[in-house]
This record gives sequence, structure tokens and C-alpha cells, in this order.
Amino acid sequence: MRYRRTRAGVLSALLAATLAATMVPAQAQAEPAGATAQAEPNQVQDLAVVQGDGYATLSWTPVDGATDYQIERTPVAEDGTATGTAVITGVWRPNRQINNSEPTFADAGFAPGNRFQWRVRARVGTEAQPYSTPVAGLTNAHWGDPDTPGQNLRTQWENTLGAQYTSDVNEYAYTQAVDELSERVRVVEIGRTIQNRPINMFVVGYPTPPATPEAVAATNPLLVNCNVHGNEPGDREACLIMARQLAFTDDAKTLDLLSKTTMLILPTLNGDGRAAGARGNSTGQDLNRDYSLIRQPETRAFVEMVRDYRPIAGYDGHEYGNANTGDLPMLPPRHQNVAQGIFDESQNMIEGHMYSQGAKDGWWACPYGCTGANVGLGEETILRNTLGLKNVVNSLLELRSSGGPTRPDESNTANNRRRKTYSALWTFNQFLQYHGANTKAITTARAEAITFQSTNTGRIVFRGSRPIEAHPAPHPGETPPPLDAPTPERILQQPPCAYKLTEEQYNGERTDGPVGQRTTVAQRLAAHGWKVIKVADGYLVPLAQPERGLVPLLLDGQAVEGLVAGERVMPTRTGTHNGPLTLTGVNCIDGATLRGPLRVQPGATLIMTGTSVNGPIDVTGAAGVFLGGNTVNGPVRVVGTTGPVNVVGNKVSGPVDVLNTQGAAALVAGNTVNGPLGCSGNATTPVNLEVANSVSGPKFNQCSRL
Ligand SMILES: [Zn+2]
Repeated sequence: MRYRRTRAGVLSALLAATLAATMVPAQAQAEPAGATAQAEPNQVQDLAVVQGDGYATLSWTPVDGATDYQIERTPVAEDGTATGTAVITGVWRPNRQINNSEPTFADAGFAPGNRFQWRVRARVGTEAQPYSTPVAGLTNAHWGDPDTPGQNLRTQWENTLGAQYTSDVNEYAYTQAVDELSERVRVVEIGRTIQNRPINMFVVGYPTPPATPEAVAATNPLLVNCNVHGNEPGDREACLIMARQLAFTDDAKTLDLLSKTTMLILPTLNGDGRAAGARGNSTGQDLNRDYSLIRQPETRAFVEMVRDYRPIAGYDGHEYGNANTGDLPMLPPRHQNVAQGIFDESQNMIEGHMYSQGAKDGWWACPYGCTGANVGLGEETILRNTLGLKNVVNSLLELRSSGGPTRPDESNTANNRRRKTYSALWTFNQFLQYHGANTKAITTARAEAITFQSTNTGRIVFRGSRPIEAHPAPHPGETPPPLDAPTPERILQQPPCAYKLTEEQYNGERTDGPVGQRTTVAQRLAAHGWKVIKVADGYLVPLAQPERGLVPLLLDGQAVEGLVAGERVMPTRTGTHNGPLTLTGVNCIDGATLRGPLRVQPGATLIMTGTSVNGPIDVTGAAGVFLGGNTVNGPVRVVGTTGPVNVVGNKVSGPVDVLNTQGAAALVAGNTVNGPLGCSGNATTPVNLEVANSVSGPKFNQCSRL
């Protein structure tokens, strides 16, 4: 809902801007009489230049009837005399931004720290109009005072002005130096590549980062994944620079943001591919087609990191070889199993924040695809979708590989590389700003998503996307990616309540990973953080858990890229039952009405969703208990469970107790309890994944902070 309001706001602002531009010729109104007395007809007025990190934002007053604008840049000396050739470096087109009444262009590609003069001219059709009065300025040097330790670190890429990318060895040295010199940074090795390169992650907080993954998770962290395709290094260089900025900046606003969250920057997931300049890892596997299947050690390390650090928002950096697309194609998780709120908030981040800020700073964000290309679809193996299915608000980020028609001065490789990296740096800094301003909306969307998924509600889509609506031409997003709706054979209307796997399916070694580092389904599901119930004849993976949307995509025989074809376990009870009920064996109750007490015997399993229970629920010594989205009039007692326990999104009139459970941490989240909540004697302290319970009574012992 929130996204729709924002979108409506954007559209009405657009309408207002269009009307204003139509009704009031801006050139004629912009200056008091006399100030622009020398202006020639159709000459651009009011050119202003503001310096950013690696770019300069040009803005000007629109010329009535202009088709586009050309941006000219000339190197100059301090006295203003030209020291080099004037070059057209940019072409502004109306589809760059959502408000054509205030045109801006982020000129980039120059070597930082040099002085230039800029002019802008309109074109009407192909006919060039007079240039604006020139504006000169000194561009920002590489970020950081050269005389301040830490700030004075530079990457290999910076030192060579983009001629060389930072090597793996130099990345590790730089990373270590940032780590050693900054109290705000801890560098964590989350795993190793197949060729044994460290996979490092900057953990950045102020004044210091929290000490453990669990403590980081409590700060609603944000994540940037900088390099999964080894031949797309532009984002990675931005990440290395941003890590230094965050580690050593004195900027009060940035420090305030860092004091409220933790930033996770993963510069190089695919170190082997980067060293080889290859898209895939050392086996040739495209890691961005492996985040759900986690056949490779790199993706497995990443998924385990997400499980443990629990970012609430993310960006995934790439480069895109399409000359006609925007500077910065972006896309939310579109897979239809992603919770609506996660999709909406991701779209709000892109179209609400990035489009608006891009219009102010001159960067051209647009939806991935942008030109109608058949990309940006619903594969759950892609990080964008995998993260969405893990309830993380996120976006893909592409950097347009070539200059294309709107940046005609990028035949020089360094120019091209600098534009790409500094546009990524802008995006990641904007991401931090967005996160700071929207933490509440993001955490609300995440909590609702976790609760919704845990109720196992609604159809399953094996593959297929939500539509990305077009913006009205000529603005960004006029050509969204393909509809990619699910075909009928990729829809399962009635979800099972669990998948049952055999011993061989669950614990047998898979042959789809690299030799020497092969893993089992059990290990992969554990890496995802899913809970599994051991039963007499196999293993049950209930859908009533936070990553419900991803479960069938790996374990159903109908999945497009599944791991194993588990047996669908359908609900065993759905209707109305009057009187007491005592359960043994495996019980799957969905959408039922139970009038009377419910007792679950030792060794039994209960998976219950969307059910109304009038009477107490008493579970003792069960193999596993999953309660999602039920309404219970009476107390709930879960005692001595030997396997997993999830109690999510229930409404309970009466006390809730989780006692003496023996398995992994019970998940007790998003419940409304009219009464006390008590947990004690559990082998592992119960958790809520930062999804608070609403409890009218006191919260005791191990549940006191849930
Ligand atoms: Zn890529």
C-alpha cells in the first residue's frame, strides 16, 4: 500500500512538472530582466555545476522546445584558459529523469581532482542551439585527506586512474589496512573460494560494529554484494572506496546513519572469477544462477552469511552490455512467491528513492531491461529473487557497460571505467540514505513477510514474475522488463504442508558440486536456515516457515530447477472437529476449526496453519511443532520437543509457554498473546528474527526480549 501511495505521488508530481513546463516557458521566466540581457534565442541559461565523488552534477533551465541537450567539457587551467580539447561528454534525453522541468546530468569519466569548464546547449531536432555561458570548477580529488592515516589509503584502481582494476592481492592488503586503521570496521572472512581465496566482508558500524552476527542482525543491517560476475568489476571498485569513506569519514550524517545500523559490504564473492576475468567461478558456474541451489562453496558461504547476519535490505552489483539502456538499470525481486510487501518496498526504493535522487543528481536509473530486452525474470537462482524469497528488500544494480549514445566520450577505457564505478558509488551511498530514512517501513514489510510466509497461505508459483508497470513515456521505465507471468503448469493452487525426503535424498552426497567440496541436501537446507523434522521414515520440511516461498522451488518435483523431488505431504485435517483431539504420528492441519482441547503425544509431529482452536493446546515431547497463523482460545504449552519449534503469527487468548525444548532455537515471532509468554529450560534460547510479539502479559526468562 505504501508503495502505491508513493507511486501516485511521483506521478502527480510528474504531471505538475509537465504542466508547469507547458504553461511557463522557463527560459523567459528564469531571470529578472537585465540579468540575461545577452542571452541569444534558445541559449541554455542558469547552468550550475555541483561536484560529487567522481562526477559533477550539471543543472540548467530548460529551453522551450528542446529535443535534447549536449554537455561539453573542456580541461582548463586555474586562469580559465583551455589546456585540452573541448569534448561532448554527455547527451541529456527526456527519458533520463522523472521531472523534465529541472534537467540534470551527472558528467563523469574524468580523472578526479582536475579542473574543467562545462557548457550545455539545446538541440531542436538535430539543430544545435547556442551554448550556455561556461561554468568552470575543480572536481573532487579521490576521497580522503592525503595526510590523514586511513583516509589516505587508495586502491590500485584509484592509483592508476582506472587503468587497472585492483588485484586480489591488493584488495586483501587494502582490506586489511582499512580493518587495522578503523575502529568502525571489522573484516570477516565468510568463506573461501574453490581456489582458496578468502571471501571477505566489511562489517561497518559506529562507533564500532556489533561483535557477533546475532548482534549485527539486531541492528537491521544492509548489504551490498559487489562482485559475483568476475568480468563485471565496476561495482567492486566502488565498494572498496565506500568502505574507506565509511571507515574514516567525519561526516555527521553518515556517522549518525552508521550508529543506527550496520553496513555489510562484500567486495568479492567470486574471487576466482575476478582473478581470471571470467563471469563464472573456477568451474565455470554462473554463481548468480546458484543462490538457491548453493552447489558451490561461494554461494553457500553467502547464503550462510545471510542466515546469520540477517540483512533487511540489499543491492547486488553488476554490469550490463546494452548501449541503449540507462546509466543504472535496477530491478526488485519479482518472483511471485516473494511477499507483496517485500516487492513493494523494493520498488519504493528504486522508483521512489533512486528515480527521485537520480533526477536531482543527474544519474539515470531505470528498470533492468529498459529497452525491452528479455532479461530480469523470475529465476529464483538469481540473488535478487533469492533475497526477496528470504524477505530481504533488495535490488539488482547494473552499470551500463558502454558509454552508448548518451555518453559519447567513453571510447577511452579509463573514462568508461570511472563513469561506471562512480555511478555505483553514488548508488550505494544513496542506498545507505534510503535505508536510514525507511528503516521502519522496511522492518515492517519484513515482519509482515516472515509472518505471512509462516502461515503457508496461498498458491505456489514455481516460476514467474510480478509485472513491473511502465512509467509514462518519455520517463525512466517507459519500457519495463517482460511480463514473465507464470504459465499454468508452473502454478500449484493447493500448497502441501511439507515435503518428505528419504534418507538418501536428504543425506546422500550430491554430485552437482565441485569435486572435493560436494554437499548434501541436509547441509544446503541448513545453510538456508530451514528447519527439518526427523520422522520415522524420513525428513519433513514444513512450508510454514519464513522462507516458505523458496521451499517448493527446491523440493517439489514440479520445480524448474529443484534439488530433489520430495513427497508432497498434504493436509490430513481441514474441516470442523468437535470434542477433544489427541494426535500421534504426523499431523497436518490447515484451515480447520477445532472445538475442544488439542493434545499432541510424545514423538508426534504437528504442523498447523490457519486453524481456529477453541481449547488449550498441549504438546509434550513432540518431534516437531509448527504453528502458523492460528487463532487459539486457550493456553498453548509446548514442552520437551525433541525437534524444531516454530510459533509464528498466531493469536492466542491465554498464556504461551515454550519449555525444555531440545532442538535448535525455537522461533517465537509475530504472535499476539493475550496473556503471559514464558520460555525456560530450552537447550537454545528462542529467537524472533527481530519480529516482535505483541504480549499483553509479562514475558519471562528466555522469552523476555521477544
Ligand atoms: Zn552480472
